[in-house]
Amino acid sequence: MTRREFVRSVGVASAVPGAFMQNDQSPNAANEVQLSQIHGPSEQDEKAPGPFLPTKRRIGYAIVGLGRLSLDQILPAFAVSQYCTPVALVSGDRTKALKIADQYGIDAAGVYGYDSFERLAENPRVDVVYVVLPNGLHAEYVTRAAKIKKHVLCEKPMAVSSQEARTMIRSCKAAGVKLMIAYRQQYEPNNKALRQSIANGALGKVHGFVSSNSQQQGDPTQWRLNLKLAGGGCLPDVGLYCLNAARFLSGEEPSEVSATIWQPRDDPRFTQVEASCSFTLKFPSGLIASCSTSYDVHKSQFLRIEGDQAWAELSPAFAYHGNKLRYSKLQGDMETETAPQIGEKNQFALEMDHFAECILEKKEPHTPGEEGLRDHVIMEAIYQAAHSRKSVVLEA
Ligand code: NAD
Repeated sequence: MTRREFVRSVGVASAVPGAFMQNDQSPNAANEVQLSQIHGPSEQDEKAPGPFLPTKRRIGYAIVGLGRLSLDQILPAFAVSQYCTPVALVSGDRTKALKIADQYGIDAAGVYGYDSFERLAENPRVDVVYVVLPNGLHAEYVTRAAKIKKHVLCEKPMAVSSQEARTMIRSCKAAGVKLMIAYRQQYEPNNKALRQSIANGALGKVHGFVSSNSQQQGDPTQWRLNLKLAGGGCLPDVGLYCLNAARFLSGEEPSEVSATIWQPRDDPRFTQVEASCSFTLKFPSGLIASCSTSYDVHKSQFLRIEGDQAWAELSPAFAYHGNKLRYSKLQGDMETETAPQIGEKNQFALEMDHFAECILEKKEPHTPGEEGLRDHVIMEAIYQAAHSRKSVVLEA
């Protein structure tokens, strides 16, 4: 591949609009407003954000659990969503929920407790229940949402076991509602551009993947360090990003895993769950993915994917903002780096809008329950491999 072809394959990838979102047939195409262009040919065209659906026709979301993710990321993201609006809150703390409802223009009648969750059934503005609770509560609330016939967006990890994940899929199918798992990085523009460029052959044949996603946990009493509520330690929380990225970017499923875990039980944070985990995924094509994750190191997150023609790196790879993509390739005797400038978009708005589009257009989500289930099956194999000190073969 010539340099020009390489740059084009990377550039084209970065310019490709979401193949599984915001297509030409967008439910909102009629609302598009054009800006006249006043800049010269060397400048980018200006484009107004949107088009946005009128508030009354938007898909209404009920947010279940008002913790850090809901308050810091999800609720603010509605301001830049094209198709969604928050219409209900479910919380154990009514005073807090009423304050938040007031800030986001949600009627007090749209504030519910966990014990009155089923009353969401009577609220016609609620189309989607977004479960943002500790992992060990996902299965219960997804199943309860399905029973009252609401579509469900569920935070990652989907559950605390593959058995729970299967039950959740069955409940949603039986109720005829959609289930999507909130793998936000699969909707993030840099990750999507990288996936597209790999599929276009920009790296050649891909043989290597290296990734880490780690952070330092503090409070030993938090639910993330409680096995029943979290389902594990760093692996299902942050390590899951490396695992899911290896599958998403390569478009392949691993056939074998090996792993090592570290659990210093004399540290009060790690009496129930692992502090660190390193795992290797072998794929049928020969791709080997080496991943590491920890709850006991300073925040670190990157990935590098290596082909026989070039490599690409995302660093940071899984951040809410500021993910950076670069490629490296030998040109003659010069190692040449390119760093495509990919406009930043709010990942939470993108994933919520994708689910809204699926409901409006009666399509299946890009990251359905089966995507979450697959990761649970692989994580269980990772724990099994670490405990048995033997590699584990995965069924196709
Ligand atoms: P958090 O601890 O900040 O919030 C959890 C909320 O659940 C709180 O409001 C808490 O009061 C409520 N809750 C209800 N029952 C509870 C119980 N029995 N024990 C503890 N809390 C209970 O957690 P968070 O960071 O908001 O995470 C929530 C979910 O979102 C988790 O599944 C997590 O993995 C996921 N998450 C995803 C991302 C992402 O980038 N997609 C980032 C952070 C968290």
